[in-house]
Formats: sequence, structure tokens, C-alpha cells
Amino acid sequence: MIMGNFVYKCSSCLREYKRDEVRYLCPVCAMDYRPGIPLKGVLTAKFDYEFIKRHFSKKNPDFSLFSAVERQFFPDYPVGNTPLIKSSALSSLLGLENVLIKYDGLNPSGSLKDRASFLVVAESVRLKEERIVCASTGNAASALAAVCSSAGKKAVIFVPKTAPKAKLVQIILYGAEIILVDGTYDDAFAMSLRFTQKRGGLNRNTAYHPLTIEGKKTVSLEIFQQMNFEVPDAVVVPVGDGVIISGVYKGFYDLKKAGLIKKIPCLVSVQAKSSNAINRFIRSGRYSDSKNPRTIADSISVSTPSNAYMAKSAVENTGNLTVDVSDDEILKAQKILASTTGIFAEPSSSATLAGAIKLKMELKKFKSVLLLVTGNGLKDIDTPLKNISLPPPVSKDWI
Ligand SMILES: *Cc1c(COP(=O)(O)O)cnc(C)c1O
Ligand SMILES: [Zn+2]
Repeated sequence: MIMGNFVYKCSSCLREYKRDEVRYLCPVCAMDYRPGIPLKGVLTAKFDYEFIKRHFSKKNPDFSLFSAVERQFFPDYPVGNTPLIKSSALSSLLGLENVLIKYDGLNPSGSLKDRASFLVVAESVRLKEERIVCASTGNAASALAAVCSSAGKKAVIFVPKTAPKAKLVQIILYGAEIILVDGTYDDAFAMSLRFTQKRGGLNRNTAYHPLTIEGKKTVSLEIFQQMNFEVPDAVVVPVGDGVIISGVYKGFYDLKKAGLIKKIPCLVSVQAKSSNAINRFIRSGRYSDSKNPRTIADSISVSTPSNAYMAKSAVENTGNLTVDVSDDEILKAQKILASTTGIFAEPSSSATLAGAIKLKMELKKFKSVLLLVTGNGLKDIDTPLKNISLPPPVSKDWI
């Protein structure tokens, strides 16, 4: 097992830093950062791709070459290795040749966020940090709490009090310290930064810690492995802060730089209508916050998406497809997905299918389209419950 060498490279000014020279953002670009604007100076891990080329073999593939933390620091937590499913039902529904689903809702805590939390906790083991702090709409927090419990670390979590109950229950049962914020996710983000500045600990906020992107990229490495060293033509991704889509991009980018794939798939950004700052930024070239993000898809509900710049270039570099979906379209897609594939996805992840339905004409040019289903439906049953009526009970001699 060998790990590739890497340096951190600033995504804004392109300055490079040694691994332990920086921890969060590029110190130069982050100088005038204040909460309430998208992050500047987000760091990416730049690997020694020539080294990977020399050492990676398809016969005996060693993906730790692409890892920014050594395996010896990994917690005992079964992250990733989620199923890749070929769905003939969705292929015919969408009129597309080949629709695939990567079902990341089967991660241990129920969402793709386990991948990011896993790598940041591994980093905390390497750095001997005992406390990890995070702001979250719910899933990053439940993932962090879960991985921390397996690694014997302490998690301190800031979440809006409106987060779905199952996510709050997870956080508490995994043993984290929970701070319920009487405010939005954006408020929780700012508070958690103040907390680590004043009281220390390792901050796991999405994009703020560069290894959140590195952790999320493992989903692309897995897709590549599961498709026999090939990649789909397009990947449809639900987008909130824009870190999952940046991670998906980074995984494919690394594979391309290592000479293992020829082309990065077209990454399609799906956002909720009232929380579409990144999609508007891509379409208009001008950034503005989502004033009032009010969507049932809590995991993609954000006013100021932290990784707006990187998400924008991921989309622009790969085909420039964006789509906004309404809550109604999300709920319909949730029902279709569950009743045709057996996959129950939380609202944010059902947005993926809602987006694919809306864009099905544009997707026709692709041979294979992968829908990234990021979170498990059991994390939020109150939302679909509002539209479900149970049949009246029958007496026990009914049949
Ligand atoms: C966090 C999350 C997203 C959105 O990811 P971003 O990095 O915020 O864009 C989508 N789906 C689920 C289930 C999530 O938890
Ligand atoms: Zn910089």
C-alpha cells in the first residue's frame, strides 16, 4: 500500500502549499473572507500524477494512491463500497439507453457525507486532534458523529433546529455534542467557525476543510472500479454547497491526470428552485445568494453555498448543464424512484431524478447516465408523510 505524494493547491490563486503548511483555506485568498460569501481560496490536493501512473495497475488496483491520508489512520468504519445499479425501469421511463444509479444512501450513516467525514476523522487521527467541529444541515453532522464514535473522537455539531428528526436522533445516539441553532444552516456555519477560532478543535465544515472534497471524490473512484475501469458519459448530482459535485469532479480529474480515463463525464447540477445560487451563478456569470431557501430538500437548502466557485467550474468544464426543480417535482420523483427501483431516497437525492426527468431531451446524447442518489429516505419520513394517506384500518375478520 503506497500513498501518492500531494501538495495543496489554491483553487483561486493557484499558490501551492506543503501538506502541513496549511490546514483550511489558502491563507492569502482567505484574508478577506467573512461568513456570508462563498469561500475563496478553497484548497485542492494536487497529487504526483506521474508517480500514480507508474504504480497503478488495473490487475491489482490500489486506490490508496489517490488518498490524501495514509490508511494506517483510517477509523474502523465501513464507508463506501455502495452498490451501482443498472435500472432498466428508469432507462425506459427516461427514454435513455442506459441509466445507472449509485446508491450512496447505503453508507453506514445513510448518506454520501460519510465519505467526507471519514477522511477528515482519519486526518484528525494523524494530527492527534481529539475534537472535530462541524456545521451541517443534518447529514454531514450525523456522518461526523458516527465516524467519530468509531474512532473514539469527540464531535461538536451545530445544526439548525429544523433539521429532520431522524438526523438529530442519529447525532445524539452516536454520542456527539449537539448545539441546536435557532437559525439557518448558514448561521450554524458561521457559529462553528467562531467556535473553532475561540476554542480549537479540527473544523470539518464542507469545503472549508480541503479533505471534505477528497473524501467525496472516492465515489468517482468507486464508480470507475465498478464499471470495469470506465466511467459514465454523464453524472447527475444534487447540489447544495457544491462540495459533492466538486468532489465527483476531482475524482474523475485525478483519474484523467493519471491517464486512466480520457474524458471527465458531463456533471449535471440539480438544485432546488429556491436554493439555486450555484445554478444561477453558472447561467448568468454573476453571483448572488439565495434570499429565502425554502425547500423540503433540507440537505440542499443553503443561502450562501460555500463551494460556489469550484462547483461552477466543475459544471462549465464538463458540458454546462444545470437544472432547477420544484418541491412538487422532487416529491413526484421520490415516489417514482421508490416505486420503480426499490430505492427510497431522501428529498435532496430524489431531486437527482427530478432533474433527469426535466432534462431528458438534453441527456439523450449520452450513452450512459448515472444518477447519484446521495441520501437514504428513512432520514426524513415526515416530508413524504404529508402527502400520504393511510387506508382506513379493517376489522380482523375482513378476510
Ligand atoms: C449534503 C448533501 C447534498 C448536497 O451536497 P453539497 O456538497 O452541499 O452540494 C446532497 N444530498 C445529500 C443527501 C446531502 O447530504
Ligand atoms: Zn490562494
